[in-house]
Amino acid sequence: MTARVGKYLLFETLGTGSFGKVKLGVHEETGDRVAIKIMDKGDIKAHEMAANVRREIAIMKALEHRNIVNLRQVLTSANKLYIVMDLVTGGELFTKIYKHGALPEPLARKYFQELVDGVSYCHSKGVYHRDLKPENLLIDEATGSLKITDFGLSTMVGANTADDLLHTMCGSPNYCAPEIISGSKTGYSGAKVDSWACGIVLFALLTGYLPFYDDNQKTLYRMIATQPPKFPSNMSEDAKNLTNMLLNKDPTRRVTVEAVKEHPWFKQSSGSVENIR
Ligand code: ADP
Ligand code: MG
Repeated sequence: MTARVGKYLLFETLGTGSFGKVKLGVHEETGDRVAIKIMDKGDIKAHEMAANVRREIAIMKALEHRNIVNLRQVLTSANKLYIVMDLVTGGELFTKIYKHGALPEPLARKYFQELVDGVSYCHSKGVYHRDLKPENLLIDEATGSLKITDFGLSTMVGANTADDLLHTMCGSPNYCAPEIISGSKTGYSGAKVDSWACGIVLFALLTGYLPFYDDNQKTLYRMIATQPPKFPSNMSEDAKNLTNMLLNKDPTRRVTVEAVKEHPWFKQSSGSVENIR
């Protein structure tokens, strides 16, 4: 028997993340295809389930932007939460970087411009992603445009212990901002944490690898906290300059995503760039 959620029949898994599976859903009457993220209610902060999560979902439903995956509705059962979204076919940016290595600079710029457009729109609405990475950036097959997924959800999950908290704050250690690692007592800015992650994504787009990488988490965190990124010699000065502004270790001096739009490297036209598969 095919499992179902509301009017949707569930089919294959499209992707798996740290908090849940995303499955293909097909509407039993209209044939409409959607992506359905299935989350365990046990993973969701119990006491915040009522007010905060509902609020967060309402905000996300209200977000409307060409570079943000559209959230359509949220359904619940006894122990699961189902998030129904527009289906994005074309796969993760992660896969493209993994397959091709560094992307051609015009294509890297186009994806980065789309990322910044989507993220700055959300920041203007007071929504912070906190888990930006190429696994959460999907490329729409039909239009070739980038769509951010997993938006705002990271704030709803986990955080029962200090370790959980760090895990929630840095969905992925490689993208984790230095102020989170050092455990700022005064709290931190969701906006600047997103800026940092955009810097890591920009570096990965232009080089095909991560600026901070080590199998040992302690070593990795030390690199993030203390080492400047090492750029390959073929990277343009403008691109290096922008990456350094995003990867400033001091969040108060780090550029905001909104201000990135004024940077010369960002402002260059990406023209009509060819997509890669
Ligand atoms: P998690 O919070 O567990 O990381 P995500 O929301 O990132 O979950 O979804 C996990 C994976 O599912 C993504 O990395 C992506 O490959 C796939 N996915 C997520 N949303 C969609 C979507 N709207 N359309 C197609 N695939 C998606
Ligand atoms: Mg994810």
